[in-house]
Amino acid sequence: MKCDFLIVGAGFAGSVIAERIASESNFSVIVIDKRLHIGGNAFDFRDENGILIHKYGPHFFHSVSNKPVDYLSQFTEWIPYQHKTLGLVDGKLIPIPFNFNSLYEVFPFKYAKLLENKLLTKFGFGLKIPILKLQEDEDEDIKFLSDYIYKNVFLNYTQKQWGYSPNELDPSVTARIPVLLSRDNRYFQDKYQVLPKDGYTPIFERMLNKKNIKLLLNTSFKDVKEEIDYSHLIYTGAIDEFFDFRFGHLPYRSLKFEFQKHNLKQFQPNSVVNYPNNNDFTRITEFKHLMLNQEQKSTTIAIEFPEKYVDMINERFYPIPQLANTEIYNQYFQFAQENVPSTIFIGRLAEYKYYNMNEVISVALMIYENKIKKLKI
Ligand SMILES: Cc1cc2nc3c(=O)[nH]c(=O)nc-3n(C[C@H](O)[C@H](O)[C@H](O)COP(=O)(O)OP(=O)(O)OC[C@H]3O[C@@H](n4cnc5c(N)ncnc54)[C@H](O)[C@@H]3O)c2cc1C
Repeated sequence: MKCDFLIVGAGFAGSVIAERIASESNFSVIVIDKRLHIGGNAFDFRDENGILIHKYGPHFFHSVSNKPVDYLSQFTEWIPYQHKTLGLVDGKLIPIPFNFNSLYEVFPFKYAKLLENKLLTKFGFGLKIPILKLQEDEDEDIKFLSDYIYKNVFLNYTQKQWGYSPNELDPSVTARIPVLLSRDNRYFQDKYQVLPKDGYTPIFERMLNKKNIKLLLNTSFKDVKEEIDYSHLIYTGAIDEFFDFRFGHLPYRSLKFEFQKHNLKQFQPNSVVNYPNNNDFTRITEFKHLMLNQEQKSTTIAIEFPEKYVDMINERFYPIPQLANTEIYNQYFQFAQENVPSTIFIGRLAEYKYYNMNEVISVALMIYENKIKKLKI
């Protein structure tokens, strides 16, 4: 088999680049994916009740920039969707991230009012304050509040999510936990918050349905790399695997999803409920909330159990934010630059980086414009 571009991985990184090359040139492109489907982790499908299931966990599209939205709008219509998460804390479902509404849910009115006034006087309305900043505050009440949030919302959740306590992780993980000084219950404040009307998979079908793209599923790079004669390689798989783990394994956190069907119209009040304490799982997603007009009599949920990633057993999901891992990745990066400078490594596995969908789309569009478009065959 022969092609101008071999692209490993049919997730957003690989599919955006494939689509751009195929739409703007006559170059031949082969896209391979070791899974049985396209879409990478954004893959979704309808179950027997017609409910759209996100196989690898709920995917909410959000972006501050219009660019990834404009790009994807060629392939889908959108429905507006402002994501909200609730968390079970002290037996109550409260808005997450913690905001003034959460404050009034967990504390008696008078004390909540006092805390609200203190926070407003000190920081002003509408800001996102990192929990670490609140913990450093000298005011006893603000300190009490930050300790409460840290213990009840953050600590156990982080331990479950990563398998490490917060002080074993990169400090940026703790630094990112915000307290929202407003009554805005939305999880994201980005200007663009939407979901594709028919789901994500049709987007990928439309992107890859081009005469000069050949798609091979159930095909792993190592099994075909000697058989395909290509001029350029774009690789979105794991970089440590590409180099046969010569600098060691890059660790990942994996997830197990337990899907359940319930003969109820609704299982929980919104799409995602977090369980920071008490249980082994971190969150439950009810998919019905992610689509319009879901009138089915039953509902499907996914219970999410974080677990250690083990090669060949489960999936790589989140790069683990620890300095030692960044150092391993840097060795691979350096080695790649020196030994295979013409191979393009892009995406969450190839760059060992947590990317949101909007981010990986933007990076893929940029790499296409700045690098790939200029390549000669
Ligand atoms: C649980 C979870 C929830 C998320 N929620 C959100 C969200 O709400 N909003 C958001 O914006 N983002 C979310 N994301 C992030 C989103 O999934 C990523 O941004 C996106 O998947 C990155 O695309 P990618 O192409 O880099 O990687 P992937 O989607 O993982 O695609 C890589 C593809 O390469 C294939 N591959 C790997 N190695 C090989 C090989 N050797 N041979 C052949 N094929 C190979 C894989 O099978 C895979 O299909 C979430 C991620 C997870 C894990």
